[in-house]
Amino acid sequence: MGNLGVTTREGGKRVLTQAEVDGFRSDLRGALLLPGDDGYDEARRIYNAMIDKRPALIARCAGAEDVVRAVTFARDHDLLVSVRGGGHNIAGNAVSDGGLMIDLSGMKSIQVDPAEQTARAEPGVTWAELDKETQAHGLATPGGTIPSTGIAGLTLGGGIGWLKGKYGLACDNLLSVEIVTADGRQLTASAEDNADLFWGVRGGGGNFGIVTSFEYRLHPVGKVLGGMAIHPLEKAKDVLAHFRTFMEGTPDELVCTAVFLTSPDGDPVLAIAVCYHGALDEGEAVLKPLREFGPPAADNIAPMDYTALQSMIEAAFPSGWQNYWKSDALNDLSDEAIEVMAERFATVPAPTIAVIVEYTAGAAGRVPVDATAFPHRETRYNILILGTWPDAADNERNIGWVRGLWQALQPFSSGGVYVNYLAEAADEGAERIQAAYGPRTYGRLVALKNKYDPTNLFRLNQNIKPTP
Ligand SMILES: Cc1cc2nc3c(=O)[nH]c(=O)nc-3n(C[C@H](O)[C@H](O)[C@H](O)COP(=O)(O)OP(=O)(O)OC[C@H]3O[C@@H](n4cnc5c(N)ncnc54)[C@H](O)[C@@H]3O)c2cc1C
Repeated sequence: MGNLGVTTREGGKRVLTQAEVDGFRSDLRGALLLPGDDGYDEARRIYNAMIDKRPALIARCAGAEDVVRAVTFARDHDLLVSVRGGGHNIAGNAVSDGGLMIDLSGMKSIQVDPAEQTARAEPGVTWAELDKETQAHGLATPGGTIPSTGIAGLTLGGGIGWLKGKYGLACDNLLSVEIVTADGRQLTASAEDNADLFWGVRGGGGNFGIVTSFEYRLHPVGKVLGGMAIHPLEKAKDVLAHFRTFMEGTPDELVCTAVFLTSPDGDPVLAIAVCYHGALDEGEAVLKPLREFGPPAADNIAPMDYTALQSMIEAAFPSGWQNYWKSDALNDLSDEAIEVMAERFATVPAPTIAVIVEYTAGAAGRVPVDATAFPHRETRYNILILGTWPDAADNERNIGWVRGLWQALQPFSSGGVYVNYLAEAADEGAERIQAAYGPRTYGRLVALKNKYDPTNLFRLNQNIKPTP
C-alpha cells in the first residue's frame, strides 16, 4: 500500500505510513478497511445516497476497546473523525472524505433484564432489533418510527416516536451510557456518575464522546391501536383544523401524526397516523371523533402488535435513495400554515415526498426543559418536509420544491428545530444548530464541550463548537 493520504481534523492533508496503518490494524479486534478492500464500498455507504464520501480508513469496531483505540489513533495522528451508528442521519455526518470512520454498526449486542425492566444495547443496534428483543418479554422503550434507524444517533438527539405521550422520548428513558471521551477514557454517565455528561448525551448528539452502550428503561407494551385515517387533499384544511382541537384534549396514551403523502393510486392525501397504547376499548372511544370526522376515505386503524406498527411505513423509506429534508418547530398550527401546506402539496413533484406534522405533548412535554439537552418540551408541532426519491437526476427539482415549502412556512416557525431533522451543515449553517438548542441550552452544551472535547475531535455532527 505505501503511504496513505488522509484528511486532518482541520481539513488539511497529511500521510500515514504503512507501518502506522499496520500498527493500527493489529491493535483492533475488528477489521480496518481501506479504499479498494473487500467490503469498503459497502461500509462507507449510508442511508442517504446523496452523501457519497470516501474515508481513508474505516475502523469496524468489535467492542468498546476498539473504540478507545480508534479514538486514540485519531487523536495521535490528527485525523478527521466521523462516527457511524445506524447510518441513517440525513446530514450524513457518519462519513467523511479522507478521514477515519469509526464504524459501530457491527456492535449489536442486546441484553434484556425482564425482571428489572431494563435493556442494554450496543450502538450498532437498530430499533427493529431492539424492539424484537424487548417485545419478546412484552416490553419496549420508546424509539423512532422506522425500524431500520439506529438507536444511537436517534437517542443521542432526543428520539421522537409512538410512545412519547405515555413514556417520553428515547433519551428520557436512558438510565446510563458507557462512553469513550476524546481523551480515550471510558466513562459511565448516569444520574449518579458524570451527571453533566449524562445531561448532554440526552439531546446533545455525538458531541461529547462515542457511546458504546445504552441502558434503557423498559415498559410493558402489548397490542396497540394503530393505523391511518386517510382523507383526500381537498379536505386537508378542515381535517387539520379538527386535528388541532382534537389533539389538545387527548390522553397520554394517544400519539397522532398528520402526514401529507401520495396514495398508491397517485392521489395526494392527508393521512392521520395513530398509535393508542392502552386499553383497546378505551382507545376506540378516544379515537371515535377523529375517525368519524370527514369521514375518512379509508381507515385501517386496528389492534396490532407494536412491532407491526413500528414497521407500518418502513417500505416508504428504502435505504440508498436520495434524501433532502427540511424541518422547523411551530408553536401552533395556524390556519395560514395549514393552508400553505395543503396548497403546496397539490404540486408535490414526486410521489415519495411527504410532509409530516408531528404533535408532541404528554410525558415528552412534561420533562422540565433543563433536565436534558433536548430543549423542545413546550413545542407542540414539528414540521418535517421529508424529501426522498430514487433518482439523482430529480435532485434539483425536488430539492427546490422542499426548500420552497420550507421557506413559505418560515413566518410560522418558532425559530427552533429538532437537531436530528437538520440537513447537512453546509445547507443549514451554524446558526441553525444554535437555534436547535436555544441560547440557554446551547451555552450549557458549549461549557460541556469545553470540558469533554476542548479540541473538537468529535466535530462531524451537529457541532457544538468549543470556545477557542
Ligand atoms: C427514515 C428515517 C426515519 C426517521 N425517523 C425518526 C423518528 O421517528 N424519530 C426521530 O427522533 N428521528 C427519526 N429519524 C432521524 C434520526 O433520529 C436521525 O437520523 C439519527 O441521527 C439516526 O441515527 P443513526 O445512528 O441511524 O445515524 P448515524 O448517521 O449513524 O448517526 C448520526 C450521528 O450521530 C452520532 N452518533 C452515532 N452513533 C454514535 C455513538 N454511538 N456515539 C456518539 N455519537 C454517535 C454521530 O455524530 C453521527 O454522525 C429518522 C431518520 C430516517 C432516515
